[in-house]
Order: sequence, then C-alpha cells, then structure tokens
Amino acid sequence: MTKCPECDAEIDLDEDEVEEGEILACPECDAELEVTQTHPVHLIVLSDDDDDEDEEEGEEDDEDEDEEEEEEDDAEEDEE
Ligand SMILES: [Zn+2]
Repeated sequence: MTKCPECDAEIDLDEDEVEEGEILACPECDAELEVTQTHPVHLIVLSDDDDDEDEEEGEEDDEDEDEEEEEEDDAEEDEE
C-alpha cells in the first residue's frame, strides 16, 4: 500500500497503473504527488501549500545553477 508522504493517508495505487513522472493528487490532503518510482511506487510531494486554486498553470522560473561536476565515482545504487 502506498502512503501519501504528506499526510500519511493510504493511497490505493496499482503499480502497473502509474508511470514514473506521473502526477497524482492525494485524495486526503490534496497534495500534488509525483511518482518518482514504480515497483514499488514511490511518491514525493510536489507542493504542500494549501491554497484553493484548482488550476495551477506552470510558473516555473526556477533557474538553479546546478554545478554539475563530472565526477565519475562509482555510485552504488544497486537495487533489485
Ligand atoms: Zn495526503
């Protein structure tokens, strides 16, 4: 069972019905949740402000300067 990371409500999700990058809304707290992973489903909260606006037109002026150093250290991210 997947839980909302925001309010801990149980969300009935089928791993096979969601895709990575899919945006869901929590039925309990209305938080926007992004599926970052499937099998198992992992959700992150996109926004946790509680305004009443239904439509959220993208106001994305996030210009973070990521300093991407190209270091090649062997990441040990071996799951599964
Ligand atoms: Zn929730």
